[in-house]
Amino acid sequence: MVRRRFATVLLTLAALVGVQLVGAAPAHAATRTLYYDASQAQEFVAVVNQAATVWNGKVSNVRLVPVTAGRTPNIRVYADNGWPRTYTTSLGNGRWYMGREAVVDGYYPLRIATHEFGHILGLPDRRTGLCTDLMSGSSAPVSCTNANPSTAEAAQVQRNFASGVAAVRQDAPEVLTVG
Ligand SMILES: [Zn+2]
Repeated sequence: MVRRRFATVLLTLAALVGVQLVGAAPAHAATRTLYYDASQAQEFVAVVNQAATVWNGKVSNVRLVPVTAGRTPNIRVYADNGWPRTYTTSLGNGRWYMGREAVVDGYYPLRIATHEFGHILGLPDRRTGLCTDLMSGSSAPVSCTNANPSTAEAAQVQRNFASGVAAVRQDAPEVLTVG
């Protein structure tokens, strides 16, 4: 008798918890916001902001937003005379350089900027030589002005920032990606 009553209580609790879980479950994966600081990107501040806008138009699981006062940025962007490069500390976190060497060589600044953000978003270099691929980088012709990720590249970023994946990768070691 006691056991049966206890079981009834448990079932009632389970039903209540079940209802609450169903009610709290989000309809879609939450968008992760990454704050970037372009204040040290010198003459490339506008192009960095433009690159963030390009990404925000292509993916929905992650958003690149200019950092606001008092908040620690996920991403810092710098400019120097070297080759463009990214130092990733974990998925969505790190710093990258808008290297003037590639700009002077004639590579399209917006493509460089969206490419380096691509590394922060978890995309590796894929030197396919194709202008339609963003992560082909400098293997594409210097004349290439495509600054958009391909459908496959955008889909990969969507998967990278699907629920739970980001937490798994938090302890990834710092990775330097040149170009
Ligand atoms: Zn690269």
